Amino acid sequence: MNLLDYLPGVPDFPKPGILFRDISPLLANPNAFKEATLQLEALAQQFDYSHILGIESRGFIFGTALAYQAHKGLALARKPNKLPLASHRESYGLEYGLDSLEIAQSTLPAGARILIVDDVLATGGTIIAASKLLKKAGFDVAGALTLLEIDGLNGSKILSQTGIANKTVLV
Ligand code: 5GP
Repeated sequence: MNLLDYLPGVPDFPKPGILFRDISPLLANPNAFKEATLQLEALAQQFDYSHILGIESRGFIFGTALAYQAHKGLALARKPNKLPLASHRESYGLEYGLDSLEIAQSTLPAGARILIVDDVLATGGTIIAASKLLKKAGFDVAGALTLLEIDGLNGSKILSQTGIANKTVLV
């Protein structure tokens, strides 16, 4: 099974010039979703981590599936003003705009080593922001794991240069 077949590119979404990879067909196919989860779990085994941080909103899906498969705890990095007890916020630039992430520090135990999980790695800005957020809150970042890296944006290289170990299932 080629998982890329289930991640078709949608041209000019959400802005002209962006080829957006749609994860919906993969989620709609139980074999493809299971295979994606197993492949994420195989890569996750290469990290020394105690908890997963899923990034809102598509990172929640794969972060949750992986947390279940790998039997790890899950924390959520949320978009602004969703968390009643948010303790830290980090703003960042996207391929197509600006955004922020927040976490509630109290969800994770002291000494947790966090694996950041998202669906897609593009420029790396989101994962760098998530990593800064975790460090501000005093947690160790084990690394970052994504299902797909968008080719040509150097996301993986940028993360590595920033000191964030990272792996992706597909490029
Ligand atoms: P980055 O911060 O690495 O530039 O962008 C990654 C973030 O934007 C991820 O949270 C991801 O969900 C979203 N994203 C960027 N491009 C795409 C895309 O082509 N498809 C999907 N599904 N998400 C994308």
